[in-house]
Amino acid sequence: MNHIPLVDLKAAHAEVADDVRAGFERVLANTAFIGGDEVGAFEREYADFGGVAHCVGVANGTDAVELALRASGVGPGDEVVIPANTFIATAGAVARIGARPVLADCLPDTYLLDPQAALDAVGPATRAVVPVHLYGQLADVTPLVAQLPDHVRVVEDAAQCQGATRDGRTPGSGGIAATSFYPGKNLGAYGDAGAVLTDDEELAGLVRAIANHGGVAKYRHDVPGFNSRLDGLQAVVLRAKLTRLAAGNEARRTAAARYDALLAELADAGRVVLPVTAPGNLPVWHLYVVQVADADRDAVVGKLNAEGIGAGVHYPAPVHLTEAYRHLGHARGDFPHAEQAADRILSLPLYPQITPDQQQRVVDVFTDALGR
Ligand SMILES: *Cc1c(COP(=O)(O)O)cnc(C)c1O
Repeated sequence: MNHIPLVDLKAAHAEVADDVRAGFERVLANTAFIGGDEVGAFEREYADFGGVAHCVGVANGTDAVELALRASGVGPGDEVVIPANTFIATAGAVARIGARPVLADCLPDTYLLDPQAALDAVGPATRAVVPVHLYGQLADVTPLVAQLPDHVRVVEDAAQCQGATRDGRTPGSGGIAATSFYPGKNLGAYGDAGAVLTDDEELAGLVRAIANHGGVAKYRHDVPGFNSRLDGLQAVVLRAKLTRLAAGNEARRTAAARYDALLAELADAGRVVLPVTAPGNLPVWHLYVVQVADADRDAVVGKLNAEGIGAGVHYPAPVHLTEAYRHLGHARGDFPHAEQAADRILSLPLYPQITPDQQQRVVDVFTDALGR
C-alpha cells in the first residue's frame, strides 16, 4: 500500500545524511559528547535564525518550558496560566515545578490562546502566562505584554513554530520562549533536544546554570539545578537540518495552500473547516488541522489510517479532561472552544517533501471517509 506518513522523517534524513555523517565523525574524533563546539555553533546559528540574542540548548522541549518558567521566577505554589488546548507537556512543565496550571480557553478559529481569557484567568498568585504557538503560528502576545501586571511574565511555548513570525516578531524576542527539537517538530533532532530563547543575557545565564547542575563553571553551584543539556551528536543533526529549515517551511506553506485548494469544495459545502491564519502571521505549518463538521471524527481518522494515511489528532483531550489534571476541578463545558476543537479536529499529513499526488490521494480518501 502507498503509505503517506503524518511526517516523513526518512525523506528529511535523506537530505542531510552526508552532512550528519561528517558531523558525527567530527564529534567522535574530539569526543565532545555533551556541550562542545557543535553545541556552541548550533546555539549561535539558531539564535540568529530565531531573531534572538541568546539560545541555550537543553535536553528536550518540556525541560525548556520548565527552565524558562523557573528562570522567570516561577516556583512551588505559584499559578501559571496555560491554554486548555495544548500538548500535555506545557502543563507537565508547570506541574513539575510544583506550580499550578490555570487554564484559559482558545479562540475558536485559530485554536490559539484567547488573550482576554488568559488575562481573566490571572489572579494574585499568577507568576506567568504561557501562550502556546500551536500548529505553526504565533498566538497574540501583545495584549498580554501590555496588560499583565509587572509580576506576571510571558513565557512562550514555541515548540511548534520554528521560523514563524507575527507582525515580524519572533518568539522570545523581548521576553523568553521555549522550543522543542523532538524528531517530528519542524526542526527535529535524532532523539530528544530543546532550547530556551531570549534577548536577556541574565535570563539566558540563569537557564544555562539551572540546566547544568546550578552552575556555569564546573563544581560551582550558584542555584539548585538539575541536568538538562544538549549533546554534540544532536547539535550536528540540528545544524545540518537548520540550513534547510527556511526552505522546508516554505514548502510546507505551498503544501498547505494546495490542501486549501483541494478542500475548498468540502469547505464551501460546510463539511470541513479549514485552518485559519491569524492576521500578521507568517505560519510554518507544523500541522495542517481541519475540523470535520458533521462526521464521526474518530471514524474518519480510522479510515484514513486503514488506507495507509498517517492522519492524527492533536490533541484528542483538552488538559482539563485528562485524568492527570482532573484534580484541577474542571468539567466539560468549562472551556467550550478547546472542547469543540478536541472533538472535531484532525491533522492531515504535511511535510516539506509531500508531493501533489500524495496530497490528492489524502484528499480523495478523506472525502470518501466523510461519506455521502
Ligand atoms: C513537543 C511539545 C512540547 C514538548 O517537547 P518535548 O521535546 O517532547 O519535551 C511542549 N509543548 C508543545 C506545544 C509541544 O508541541
